[in-house]
Amino acid sequence: MGISIRDVLLPDGRTASVTVEGDRIAEIGRPREADVTIDGRGKALLPGFVNTHTHAAMTLFRGYADDMDLQRWLSTKIWPAEARLTPEAVYWGTKLACLEMLRSGTTCFNDMYFHMDMAAKAVDEVGLRAVLSEGFIDLSDPARAEREFRQTRTVLAKIRGLRSPRVRPALGPHSVYTVSEPSLRELRTMASSEHLPIHIHLSETRAEVDDVKKERGMPPASYLDSIGFLGPDVVAAHGCWLDDLEIRRLAQQGVAVAHCPVSNMKLATGRAMPLAAMRDAGLTLSLGTDGAASNNSLDMFETMKITALLHKFAASDARAAPARAVFEMATAGGARALGLEAGEVAVGKLADLVLIDLRRPGLTPTHDLVSNLVYAGRGDCVETVICDGRVLMRDRVVRGEAEVLEHASAIAAKLAGA
Ligand SMILES: [Zn+2]
Repeated sequence: MGISIRDVLLPDGRTASVTVEGDRIAEIGRPREADVTIDGRGKALLPGFVNTHTHAAMTLFRGYADDMDLQRWLSTKIWPAEARLTPEAVYWGTKLACLEMLRSGTTCFNDMYFHMDMAAKAVDEVGLRAVLSEGFIDLSDPARAEREFRQTRTVLAKIRGLRSPRVRPALGPHSVYTVSEPSLRELRTMASSEHLPIHIHLSETRAEVDDVKKERGMPPASYLDSIGFLGPDVVAAHGCWLDDLEIRRLAQQGVAVAHCPVSNMKLATGRAMPLAAMRDAGLTLSLGTDGAASNNSLDMFETMKITALLHKFAASDARAAPARAVFEMATAGGARALGLEAGEVAVGKLADLVLIDLRRPGLTPTHDLVSNLVYAGRGDCVETVICDGRVLMRDRVVRGEAEVLEHASAIAAKLAGA
């Protein structure tokens, strides 16, 4: 019988009733009888956000090390703390991230980190949707590569063993500068034969591009293309320093890009991702927050606003990155990037939906809903969240929240204190 949301405002400006049956949107139009009825008056119904680049359990390192340059930040703070990570820490850190995402309207995320079988367990319990990849780093050491493949295989088997329709495994070669060519080739083969998406960092910093050029004779995306690595199953995070030829190659291969403007600005990557050139080339564009150590929030409303502002500022053009295009990146673009039938309020799409409370001073009046969401919206205007046809948060109440906050705080203190 499903869920019926009555008389609700939709992103296209219509007011209608939306019926959910099973995991899909069954009807948009007239109200139907249902097990759960939600009054949508004074509210807007959106597709849940799809966050296409996260390291969810890094919520444990939120605010642990800020205002540092990238290399020092990684080598003196993040890597030593990550060396102390346990499967239990990843479980609670991911649960904390899921809570934050749920509360701010994200229903699906693309995550790369460690001990991802524990991340999968956390996501499955919370009820969100995710694509999860075990981070793969071999630093051109064959013995380490062997260990990494073993770990990737083990985690894959455990995630598949969950048999969750919402949790999908992927492969996570960290980047061109941390993974050897033989491993990149083998991961590509594995992805193709086992239908696994690939999640990789690409052209984040100028130093990365310079190093890869020196070592491999071409910039990172051209190099990946030359070894046959690219394809429509690849989500590449960042892309700040891609050149025009690389953008064309990525577009030809159907690669999706996860734009992470907050992380890029906080870590001072020095250049705004070439958004206009990417859009003109026809690339699939989506938005990511990156981990909570380099953001420090997982709120996609904030990422939408900063995306729009960054590109207007960088291009000296207020028409750059308009609200609708940015909203599209955060929803339908993300769904396309991950190959999901979601990201739109439309019949037949997955019922990953978010109800926004419009009766708030900061969202009044509603001249243009999408503009309001991008420029004036915040995670805390999310009132109710449905994922895979199940209500996960109703009127801002999430069950089990206090326990997650308590465990995550205790574990974060232990990781930082050693
Ligand atoms: Zn990242």
